[in-house]
Amino acid sequence: MNKQKLKNKLFLYSGAIHIHSEYSDGTGNIDEITKAAKKAGLFWIIISDHNKMEIKEGIYNGVYVIVGEEISPQYNNHYLALNIKNEVKPSENPKTYIEAVKHQGGFGFVTHPDESDKRRNKAKPIKWLDKSINADGLEIWNWFSDWADNYDDTNILKIAYAYFFRHKLIKGPNAKTLIWWDDLNIKNTKIVPAIAGVDAHALKVTKYIIPIKIFPYEYCFKTLNNILILNNKLPDNFEEAKENILNSIKYGKNIIVNKMYSKSKNLPVFMIKNDIEQACCGESVNFTENTYLYINLFQKASIKILRNGEHFYSAISDQIKLKIEKFGKYRFEAKYKNNPWIYSNPILVK
Ligand SMILES: [Zn+2]
Ligand SMILES: [Zn+2]
Repeated sequence: MNKQKLKNKLFLYSGAIHIHSEYSDGTGNIDEITKAAKKAGLFWIIISDHNKMEIKEGIYNGVYVIVGEEISPQYNNHYLALNIKNEVKPSENPKTYIEAVKHQGGFGFVTHPDESDKRRNKAKPIKWLDKSINADGLEIWNWFSDWADNYDDTNILKIAYAYFFRHKLIKGPNAKTLIWWDDLNIKNTKIVPAIAGVDAHALKVTKYIIPIKIFPYEYCFKTLNNILILNNKLPDNFEEAKENILNSIKYGKNIIVNKMYSKSKNLPVFMIKNDIEQACCGESVNFTENTYLYINLFQKASIKILRNGEHFYSAISDQIKLKIEKFGKYRFEAKYKNNPWIYSNPILVK
């Protein structure tokens, strides 16, 4: 299972965000979705139907199910609202629903902000139009958007390729989204968190007569995971566990891993330590003379570390130990054999 206890007592829990059920344009019910999540080794999932919150939260088939809403105007400006009790209606001006979410004590993530204009298929890209807003957080990587951006349906061979080699179409977060995310982190003293979304629908696509479920839930759940880094075990009580999960996501205490390329059952470790304290993703640590950054991926990868959005260090390795000489927000990206694999949330050295 994807739970792992580290020496310093951290608990890691894999989960998936951005799932559609039969209540919007997905095909699965809660039993099917949670059975698929369990099979994929997930501990928790967040379901977010378009403009609806019909599913009842709780523990199903041993999986914690939290319900949010993907506030979805017809074109553009989709927003994943979390920790809200009542549905929020979409409107022309996204500031209206962002405020409505805040008013309920909730928070949100801009979803798939930069879908491509250069698609070679009929799916119209959905974007976030006004990047001057100070977003709570960004969905920096959306599996379905990434695939659809690179799906070429102009002939049957290309369609077959896109189905049989689905993962080959996945290129990683859009560069424009990463720039926006880094900018938000430069502008704000607090950490602006990132998540990855599977955007799972398990749609049946009928093209050239044969209907195929292009991305079954279980397949999706084995792709983009958000791994929570907690100091405690997740409580058995649903409400307490929900609070833990949402708080981690809200502050960026998660690391994004494309499980397709995880060869080890160990989950990645990223921390910055000085003599007296340590910080993981979404946390901060004071700068001292002895501040070190540690990464352990348990398999060799091409690792790039960024400080305040700028390239800081890179190496091809499974482990890194680096002395930190400056304040700032540090995050890393890792590619496995040139495939997009891991994106961490930042750690703040202050
Ligand atoms: Zn959407
Ligand atoms: Zn969606």
